[in-house]
Amino acid sequence: MGKFATGVTVVTTEFQGEAKGMTANAFMSVSLDPKLVVVSIGHKARMHDIVKQTGKFAVNILRRDQEELSRLFAGQLKEERHVSFDWVNGHPILPEALANILCNVHSTYVAGDHTLYFGEVTDILMKDEPGDPLLFFEGKYRSIGQ
Ligand code: FAD
Ligand code: NAD
Repeated sequence: MGKFATGVTVVTTEFQGEAKGMTANAFMSVSLDPKLVVVSIGHKARMHDIVKQTGKFAVNILRRDQEELSRLFAGQLKEERHVSFDWVNGHPILPEALANILCNVHSTYVAGDHTLYFGEVTDILMKDEPGDPLLFFEGKYRSIGQ
């Protein structure tokens, strides 16, 4: 699977009044009518039970210079960091991301040790200025043209 190059996202949701995030690259577009996306969340991840309870999530597509946020939300940084979120329609979002896709959980499918969370898209926010994505390939972060 490391041979499949992907972008990197942070899945966020509001839980008990606070923002919660998890790095995920198992994300894809599913349907246009209705607008559906899917993210696959491991059963060991705290985010799994949290999204089950909140019934909503946002997918924040990271830009090239957001590798540190990816490491933070993958639990790979030793120290804690303060992260500033914007709040849009009850969703905490990462304001500097390339795009923010806001969803209500449409349906779920348990697949082995992960659950597929299908999200019905309610809002899409995008930056006007162009930006390159953060990529993940062979277990390493990359950027376009590298
Ligand atoms: P925690 O371990 O509780 O949280 C993760 C980290 O985020 C912690 O360090 C926590 O301090 C920090 N954090 C959370 N909220 C905040 C906040 N508001 N402010 C500051 N810090 C905060 N796993 C999958 O299930 N599916 C995937 O598609 C997937 N893709 C991945 C892709 C990559 C490139 C990487 C590196 C990892 C991926 N993972 C994926 C693994 C997943 O990111 C980790 O297992 C993660 O630690 C699970 O998080 P958790 O929900 O258990 O939350
Ligand atoms: P890696 O080289 O292990 O990952 C390569 C690819 O393998 C990933 O892009 C993903 O498609 C797949 N993969 C890896 N672990 C998986 C898992 N537990 N379940 C399903 N698919 C998985 O990359 P790495 O740098 O060793 O990853 C860092 C950490 O993040 C590891 O603990 C890894 O397990 C986790 N991770 C989990 C997922 C996931 O749950 N879907 C995806 C990527 C990374």
